[in-house]
Amino acid sequence: MAIFKTQCPAETEKIGEMLGKNIKDGSVVAMFGDLGAGKTAFTRGFTKGMGILCDVSSPTFALVNEYRGEKRTLYHFDMYRISGWDDLYSTGYFDYLDAGGCLIIEWSENIEAILPDDCIRVTITKTENPDERNIEIIGAEFLENTGG
Ligand code: ADP
Ligand code: MG
Repeated sequence: MAIFKTQCPAETEKIGEMLGKNIKDGSVVAMFGDLGAGKTAFTRGFTKGMGILCDVSSPTFALVNEYRGEKRTLYHFDMYRISGWDDLYSTGYFDYLDAGGCLIIEWSENIEAILPDDCIRVTITKTENPDERNIEIIGAEFLENTGG
């Protein structure tokens, strides 16, 4: 496990970038945290770290955004509005999982029971300071013990 503290969105993006740089094909990154925690900010850095230059925003309508890089593609999910199996199937979640793509998922709380066992878990929490966040990362060996 690794724990980080960030003081602004750019710092949260940097942590995401570090993870994205080292991510293996077929990895699933499950993000947990409230509205405004910084999940999309983290994903912005993560995408950059993977070497993909795309505008990153919360997938509001389609529930999934696809970011295509030269070599790799990232699927960015937002499970906030998922309320059943039909919803989930229609996002293509299982298809992307089976195809071995990289997935990063906001509101993983809502699909906790069907996350892959080996997914990387990122939990972002607010503190009493409005611009401070705690970021806990579980399951990414290359980040172990590097946190402050
Ligand atoms: P989420 O996707 O979790 O709802 P966003 O990434 O869209 O969150 O938004 C995070 C909000 O919190 C932004 O308005 C951002 O400016 C603000 N913020 C303040 N401090 C931080 C921080 N340390 N890390 C990330 N976001 C921060
Ligand atoms: Mg978001």
